[in-house]
Amino acid sequence: MSNQKRYYFYHIDNCNMCGSKSGTHKILGKRLNGSQGKNPKKKIGITTTIVKCTGCGLIYSNPQPVPFDIQDHYGVPPENYWKEDYFTITDNYFQGEIDRLKKYLTLKTE
Ligand SMILES: [Zn+2]
Repeated sequence: MSNQKRYYFYHIDNCNMCGSKSGTHKILGKRLNGSQGKNPKKKIGITTTIVKCTGCGLIYSNPQPVPFDIQDHYGVPPENYWKEDYFTITDNYFQGEIDRLKKYLTLKTE
């Protein structure tokens, strides 16, 4: 796979939730197109600005990076993204969910 990414950047004029003007929204910081680590200023990458709507609290990026092809954004093999132990599933992996389900099933039959 090529590591070339193709995006265009769509400027947001109004909040997608409440419609307030984006010029009044609070800037929270920058977001890199990859892992940022503790010191993103020393990382190479493409950034966008993360803002918070002062009207409704929606947090969003502005400009909004939009991939020309969805594979440009999500086309990373999972082995390259997750650590190896993420793929190790123990026998009791879903035990918490099973216990919760049993609890709710018991409540429902009472
Ligand atoms: Zn809003």
